[in-house]
Amino acid sequence: MTDFAFNLLKEDGHARLGEVHTAHGVIHTPAFMPVGTAATVKAMTTESVAATGAEILLGNTYHLMLRPGAERVGRLGGLHKFMRWDKPILTDSGGFQVMSLAKLRTLSEEGVKFQSHLDGSTHLLTPERSMQIQHLLDADITMSFDECTPFPATPQQAESSMKLSMRWAKRSRDAFVERPGYGLFGIVQGGIYPELRAESVAALREIGFDGYAIGGLAVGEGQDEMFRVLDVTTPLLPKERPRYLMGVGKPGDLVGAVLRGVDMFDCVMPTRSGRTGQGFTRRGPVNIRNARHQDDPRPLDEACQCPACTGYSRAYLHHLFRAEEVLGLMLLTWHNLHYYQDVMRGMRAAIGTGTFTAFAEQFAADQALGDIEPL
Ligand SMILES: [Zn+2]
Repeated sequence: MTDFAFNLLKEDGHARLGEVHTAHGVIHTPAFMPVGTAATVKAMTTESVAATGAEILLGNTYHLMLRPGAERVGRLGGLHKFMRWDKPILTDSGGFQVMSLAKLRTLSEEGVKFQSHLDGSTHLLTPERSMQIQHLLDADITMSFDECTPFPATPQQAESSMKLSMRWAKRSRDAFVERPGYGLFGIVQGGIYPELRAESVAALREIGFDGYAIGGLAVGEGQDEMFRVLDVTTPLLPKERPRYLMGVGKPGDLVGAVLRGVDMFDCVMPTRSGRTGQGFTRRGPVNIRNARHQDDPRPLDEACQCPACTGYSRAYLHHLFRAEEVLGLMLLTWHNLHYYQDVMRGMRAAIGTGTFTAFAEQFAADQALGDIEPL
């Protein structure tokens, strides 16, 4: 079995082309991870997810520990077998969703005690339990347990939150069971404060991780602030480890973050938007529910090779959403995931040929065009 490894193949400015090697295969970076919250990418089979070009999925520890339960998934052979996805899986630590979804949360040095939002049962999530759950799920990439610092936060709040996360990062490292092909990522916190971000990076590098995530962004600070934080954070991270920006984002966020040296992303945006009628295209977002599409025989995005765009018209997709047909959200989810992977493929190709700056400029210009003119 291969060791967990990151090969940095090429740099173009700060943008990086690489490969993450895991127990379940190789991830070509920059990479986008579709979110499979409850052991499924909503409205997609795993075959259709793979057909978009996705090489890794994200699973949510919080949801899976509550239902169906980590021990059950473990008994059934792990998450890959359970959901029939044989490529790499990354699981989050549960920390973010405990704070956003659970009821009656009590945060202490030990961890977070909370009540399930499903049935009110009481649970304790600690760094050690989070490592155990992610091991039971058989995640190729395990995330250290952290507290996602809320936004806005004062410097004092951001500092004490970040320091707690660093102590939990050490406990996560100590509890993580090393196996060939499996890696543990630390998570940089520190809010919007450069000196706290730097302190967090230094603390994580001291502990030593297989990859470094940047957490606590895309929580309301806006794109400019997020890019400012990346500008001061990514240069401090070790070049020879993958970098993962958590929970981001819109297509333009991905291009801007790759420009700043990020390698991996996850976000619910393509899937969630796909279920509500928003499609992402080369010329920006399109609301397929809008009446302007009802007589439009053209595809959603004529350059897209997904089943929704090669087989169906805007008029048909519009009809499916208006009639609340399940196929509508299936097709739009498929399109959005395919489009996101197209953006990643485009970025990897551009970095490979040393033309990433031109790619980013063209991308922004195309997005700024706005949707095609109505017929
Ligand atoms: Zn498409």
